[in-house]
Amino acid sequence: MENSINRELNKIKRSIISHQPEQEIFSGVVDSFLNQIQPFVTKNKEYQNLGIIKRLFEPNRIIQFRISWLNEKGKEELNRGYRVQFTNALGPYKGGLRFHPSVNLDILKFLAFEQSLKNSLTGLQLGAAKGGADFNPADYNEQDVMRFCQAFAASFYTFTGKNEDVPAGDIGVGEREIGYIFGYTNKLKDSFGGDYTGKNYFSGGSKLRPQSTAYGCLYFLAEMFNYNNLKLNGKTVNISGSGNVALYACEKALDMGLKVQTLSDSSGVVYAKNGISSEMLDFTMKLKFEKRGRISELAEKYNLEFSEDKKPWNYPCDIALPCATQNELEKHDAENLKENGCIAVVEGANMPCTHDAVKVFHKINILYAPGKASNAGGVSVSAFEMAQNSTGYRWTIEKLEKRLKETMHTIHDQCVKYGGKVGKHPNYLKGADIGGFVRLYNAMRNQGVQ
Ligand code: NDP
Repeated sequence: MENSINRELNKIKRSIISHQPEQEIFSGVVDSFLNQIQPFVTKNKEYQNLGIIKRLFEPNRIIQFRISWLNEKGKEELNRGYRVQFTNALGPYKGGLRFHPSVNLDILKFLAFEQSLKNSLTGLQLGAAKGGADFNPADYNEQDVMRFCQAFAASFYTFTGKNEDVPAGDIGVGEREIGYIFGYTNKLKDSFGGDYTGKNYFSGGSKLRPQSTAYGCLYFLAEMFNYNNLKLNGKTVNISGSGNVALYACEKALDMGLKVQTLSDSSGVVYAKNGISSEMLDFTMKLKFEKRGRISELAEKYNLEFSEDKKPWNYPCDIALPCATQNELEKHDAENLKENGCIAVVEGANMPCTHDAVKVFHKINILYAPGKASNAGGVSVSAFEMAQNSTGYRWTIEKLEKRLKETMHTIHDQCVKYGGKVGKHPNYLKGADIGGFVRLYNAMRNQGVQ
């Protein structure tokens, strides 16, 4: 029996690849997931319904739409928009929108699938989706960004709704973009719907949503250190990125007494040997969120080292927090980190570490947390925002932080419960995959074939 289940699971892996050979990232993620859950499924008869397992990888619906709009010079522009509505077995479709030239169906399917496990792990009422467009806000002025967002909303608004699909931000989509899309959706529907999270506070957003992914990530790091009897205070941290997740991760790390040494963007990395100070962080927040400048300006202003086209993983550190984008930390980076004394890697971004890098962490006893567990704070606070919007009652920052900490604690518990050990440490990857799988599988079984 055990062998026949293994044979069937291997068949599913092969069919995912042959069905969509062009979707290498998505297939790679499914393959890795099936490898993690395979021993659990073969041991537990109640999790051997292959119909349900196959359905885990097939989105309920994929929407692709044209976004044509006129820029400020009156020239027509054309972009492609997508929404992968992966599953609504646990709640309304939920997941971010990404505006970046690299956006394509493969990336969005991988992100939406990972979102289904992440949202399941939170224990909250959240389905899973991901969407976006091949549009780069950095290439346009404020008015053009608004025009594009309104055109995006016009093509997409019929698919959103507080019980249907509730998108949020991701790379290239922050409070500004959500504000424009949300506002135009309200205009078209002639209603103040709860269709989006990540809204500005004045539009009904949560006080903690901008910080939540990053704060949750640092709370998860604290849980890991506590569980593994390690001392956190005074440790050095290298962070990649300088967007929403990276900068609030830096803020919380400083609050927790850590020394942050790097920030980066797609042009290079800034290294601060004596640590990034609160003043430097304030400067960077204004630089990135208001002036939309480059990270090299931080180095110029404070006379710090800037290395063009380099990543933070060549510099010594105790903890690495990749907070920029997928596949930004590769096998050789993992080896560098180990040589330079790193003891923990906690993902703020979605799948920033390649599968080969993760193998290195596991082999050499670096504590490793996958984003589907450690960056789930953002979507959790989105669920709190949805709860607040539906009752019309605002939560205090204290209540939000308390609930966020509890959620990260619950996710950590599940990782430990299901993951077992890899080398000296809990296998957080396996734990997150099985923990996410168990809740989703049970809900799907309960809801019948559909
Ligand atoms: P932002 O757009 O705010 O910031 C992204 C940052 O990553 C920027 O500094 C950007 O630099 C950098 N970056 C992007 N691509 C590359 C690249 N190829 N090489 C180096 N740096 C790069 O996005 P977020 O902070 O919101 O998201 C970051 C990650 O966190 C993503 O993986 C996202 O999916 C994940 N995430 C975000 C959540 C959220 O709540 N925002 C929730 C959960 C996960 P540049 O400006 O030069 O492009």
